[in-house]
Formats: sequence, C-alpha cells, structure tokens
Amino acid sequence: MSAKIIDGKKIAAEMREALKERVKKAGPGLAVIIVGENPASQVYVRNKERACIEAGIRSEVIAFPEEATQEAVMARIDLLNKDPAIHGILVQLPLPAHFDSRKVLDFISAGKDVDGFHPCNMGTLFLGNPGLQPCTPHGIMKMLEHEKVEIRGKHAVVVGASNIVGKPMAVMLLSKGATVTICNSKTRDLGHHTRDADILVVAVGRPNLVTGDMVKEGAVVIDVGMNRLQDGRLCGDVDFDSASEKASLITPVPGGVGPMTIAMLLENTVEAEERSWRR
Ligand code: NAP
Repeated sequence: MSAKIIDGKKIAAEMREALKERVKKAGPGLAVIIVGENPASQVYVRNKERACIEAGIRSEVIAFPEEATQEAVMARIDLLNKDPAIHGILVQLPLPAHFDSRKVLDFISAGKDVDGFHPCNMGTLFLGNPGLQPCTPHGIMKMLEHEKVEIRGKHAVVVGASNIVGKPMAVMLLSKGATVTICNSKTRDLGHHTRDADILVVAVGRPNLVTGDMVKEGAVVIDVGMNRLQDGRLCGDVDFDSASEKASLITPVPGGVGPMTIAMLLENTVEAEERSWRR
C-alpha cells in the first residue's frame, strides 16, 4: 500500500481562512513572551506573529534577554493577565535553565492560556469538558476529523508521553472512543505496540525512530517529531519512505502537524476572546 499524504498545510490554511470571519466579529489580542536568543524559538515566534497578522489578530511580541529574572517575566505576565485588550498569552518554551517553567506557565491566567498547558485547562480536558486545549494534539484531532478517520473502537498508540503532546493526545483519542496505549522511553519492545496500532501518533524527538516494519498495514500515521539534521534538513520521528509503504494515511514533516499547531493557536486566541464575553 502507498499512503495518501495528509496535507497539514492545506487543512491549516482552510481553517485559518474560516477563522477570519470570527476574527472580524471580535478583536482578539495575543501576547507572546520570548526569553533569550534560542534560534529555533525565534523562528517559531516569528511564524506565530506572521500567522496572527495574516489572520487579523493583534499580536505583541515581548522579548526578554537571556539573563532576565523569573520575577521580571512573571511581573509582565501579571500585567498581561489584567490587560483587557489581551486575550491570549503564550510563553515560548524552552525558558533558560534558571527558570522554573512550570511556575511561569501556571501563572498565566487559565482563561488566557492559549497553549492549553495550565492545570485548569489540562484538568478540564481530562474531565471531558470544553476548554482551551493544547494546540498540537488538538490540531491532530482536527486533521483526523478532516480526513474522516474513524476513531471509535480503534487501537490508538501514542509514542511519547510529554505534557504538551503525548498525554493530552492520548486523552483526546480516548474521549473519542479509541482504545489507547501510551509508550515512553522505558517501553519494552516498542515495535510490538506500534505494529498493533490502527492510529499511530509519534511524538518523541528522535529522527526515524519508527520504521516501516513497525507500522501495521493500513494504519494512519501521524508524525509530530521535528528534528533538525546536521545538513540542516528537518525530519520527523517516522521514517517516511518505509512507513508510507505500509500506512493508508501519513503526515509529512514539514507540512503536516506543524501548520495545524499554529492554526489551533489562532483558534484558541479567538476562542479565549469569545469566552471573555461570556464571563
Ligand atoms: P519531550 O517532552 O522530550 O517528550 C518526549 C517523550 O518521548 C517522553 O515522554 C519520552 O519518554 C518519550 N521517549 C523518548 N525516547 C523514547 C523511545 N525510544 N521510545 C518511546 N518513547 C520515547 O518531547 P515533546 O515536547 O513531546 O516533543 C516531541 C517531538 O515533537 C519533538 O521532536 C518536538 O520538536 C516535536 N513537536 C512538534 C510540534 C509541532 O507542532 N509539530 C509541537 C510540539 C512538539 P519519558 O516520558 O520516559 O521520558
């Protein structure tokens, strides 16, 4: 079987277009905080800013130097939490080593937490109530919906159990009726689990960890990994060539999950504003 490629860029573009109507009715504002000079973070922040401008969302990038104190960053978040013109606040990770990232993220008001990382939003997700959801797994669910992938009763295997991708991904799939297996770095015989997956989501950060022989014939394969190779190329966690021989649907890297994550950030910002009217 040769897999159909899921065009994340195209689906994300459609979603961003559809969002423009909602943006017109509102006037959402997003604040993005970046600390230090991590080149990858700077690219991510620039891409988010560009996407906001294109969608008509006001965005403000607040850059702190590497040596900034946690107190200074939190004092700024405090102001943004109280600012009625700002509906979404995002802190670009990773923060420098002298920061307690959890403490900083938890300080963002849950209603403005457009990354969906706040314990209130995570709790809401686990309880199955509507709330601001983590952008990457939410974007993947939208992609599966767009491709009309049946989730109910299927075996979904999530490789990677981080708070920002793997864990919320597993909960979202579970809530749609999948039987879910979550794997981590201690999992014995990873292939034994992945080979049984109808839906396989890989979010680890290791180039080509999952090869074609670890994929079930006809599986839907979602590659979240974003790894920069020595020659500068970007690659995922799945060996695309061998896996696409087995899968029925597969996401490429780049052009798969990444654009969906940004589209969901924009949607969460609009959602946060709409929710602020209802409060
Ligand atoms: P992370 O916080 O480093 O978590 C990695 C997870 O993978 C951990 O749960 C770890 O297990 C597990 N793991 C490590 N080695 C493994 C192995 N050999 N077999 C099975 N599991 C293993 O990473 P993350 O933030 O979730 O990101 C994962 C990847 O996705 C990265 O490449 C990142 O750049 C990418 N990403 C992409 C987007 C996007 O929009 N495209 C968004 C977010 C992240 P333990 O829990 O046991 O340590």
